[in-house]
Amino acid sequence: MARRIGHPWVARIRQSALVSALPSADLVDGLVAALGGDASRVSAGDSDRDLHSEDMTFHHPVRPDVVVYPTATHEVSAVLALADRHRVPVTPFGAGSSLEGHVIPVAGGISIDLTRMDRIVAVEPENLLAVVQAGVTRNALNRAAGEHGLQFPVDPGADATLGGMAATNASGTTTVRYGKMRAQVLALEAVLPGGRVIRTGSHAPKTSAGYDLTSLLVGSEGTLAVITALTLRLHGIPEHVVAARISFPTLDAAVRCAVAAVSVGAGVTRIELVDTLNMTAINLYSGTSYPEVPCLLVEAAGTRASVDGDLELVLALAEAEGAVDVAHERAAEARSRLWSARHDAAYSWSQLWPGMRHCSTDTCVPVSQLAGAVALAQAELERLGLRGGILGHVGDGNFHVGVTLDPDDAEEVSRWHQLSDALVRDALARGGTCTGEHGIGLGKVGALALEHPDLLPLYRGVKGVFDPHGIMNPGKVVPGDADNPASG
Ligand SMILES: Cc1cc2nc3c(=O)[nH]c(=O)nc-3n(C[C@H](O)[C@H](O)[C@H](O)COP(=O)(O)OP(=O)(O)OC[C@H]3O[C@@H](n4cnc5c(N)ncnc54)[C@H](O)[C@@H]3O)c2cc1C
Repeated sequence: MARRIGHPWVARIRQSALVSALPSADLVDGLVAALGGDASRVSAGDSDRDLHSEDMTFHHPVRPDVVVYPTATHEVSAVLALADRHRVPVTPFGAGSSLEGHVIPVAGGISIDLTRMDRIVAVEPENLLAVVQAGVTRNALNRAAGEHGLQFPVDPGADATLGGMAATNASGTTTVRYGKMRAQVLALEAVLPGGRVIRTGSHAPKTSAGYDLTSLLVGSEGTLAVITALTLRLHGIPEHVVAARISFPTLDAAVRCAVAAVSVGAGVTRIELVDTLNMTAINLYSGTSYPEVPCLLVEAAGTRASVDGDLELVLALAEAEGAVDVAHERAAEARSRLWSARHDAAYSWSQLWPGMRHCSTDTCVPVSQLAGAVALAQAELERLGLRGGILGHVGDGNFHVGVTLDPDDAEEVSRWHQLSDALVRDALARGGTCTGEHGIGLGKVGALALEHPDLLPLYRGVKGVFDPHGIMNPGKVVPGDADNPASG
């Protein structure tokens, strides 16, 4: 396993009282019993532990002591009861595609892999909803919903699990039209530390009943409970969809066009910013030959007349910003190639810089501030001499600076931290947030403290109610005082 620059407080958490006192043989035996005696779904083997020790970023890997693969809610409940009784840390693991060190079990313990809870329990077209186990992926749900002319629109690029997407309150290219995960989750089944199973929400399209625990668990990053099942909204697949690739002379012109399109209320379903470096990487990786200049990738969906009207509006705005080229992708296959190329942008960097790690910032600002925020990001990238490019869900004021770096190069990692810090401070100064969609994980713990210093005690109070022994994904979001780097 590669040596990496560790987080300053990982060692401290490692030494904290949370690390289980239970001998590992007893832990494994207890977990086998919790999974109905099926030893094949409890692994303390090197390869399983390595696979659950890291994400695709530079964060220092830490192995769990053991990995479990439950298939049913009662098994998750038995695992959490055992873990809570013996104070063993538990880190939920979906597809492992999150980008802020979320799934790294910094205190060791149990990595609970939900991917075998992959049953689509029900698709109810008449109610526009589906009920799924937490390990179902968004593509699997879309295949099942598609048979009824329906779709689940949230698309964070990776084929993430719906439990993981809920846990990070994920969004993606279609959020400008459909909203984030929180807007899609009607009800949840979750297991609390100690093993109690709770059910929040209902199948009704809306509710005002009590505190909104569904929304609290969405975005809780595995620090409060393990989500075992979700009731999700489905949406009709639009009758007519057209995508357009619009090339601009400068990144600034592309951003201004996107902001104008959103401000005038153009009914787009996607409006994505891609800079020159990313277009080059995409062409190399996906075998496409798109113009290697700053682009907006725009999609409109609805009736033929509404789509034509929306695109016409965006194209008029693009022309006013000096757009140099426009290409329409009308065929489903060409659109699908375009969006999968866009989603592969992060992976495509491996062609340009093999062996390096990819990291991505994720700030979000009010759309009126977007041009200034992107300009600052470009200037900081240049000043810090990092290999990076800019992508953005710009209709939401959300953009990413992707950087490729050598995780063993402390100086380069330090420049990455400077970039991330500068962008966070700039976003906050503009009335924005330190993360639009990736979440806090390990990487943004300090940024959350900057954004909401006065809320931290309240956050810790909530954490304490759900997870009094602090076993759930320790070190993430709001580490306990002892673990908090800010506490000295
Ligand atoms: C190429 C690429 C592009 C991406 N683009 C986007 C994007 O556009 N928008 C976006 O939002 N994200 C994006 N991401 C990040 C990632 O895909 C999302 O964060 C996704 O929601 C993570 O889902 P997962 O199943 O991989 O969860 P994991 O990474 O496995 O887990 C994420 C967090 O949720 C917790 N968790 C997982 N499952 C459960 C559960 N059942 N119960 C409780 N907690 C759980 C974990 O402990 C962890 O804290 C991208 C990632 C990649 C690699």
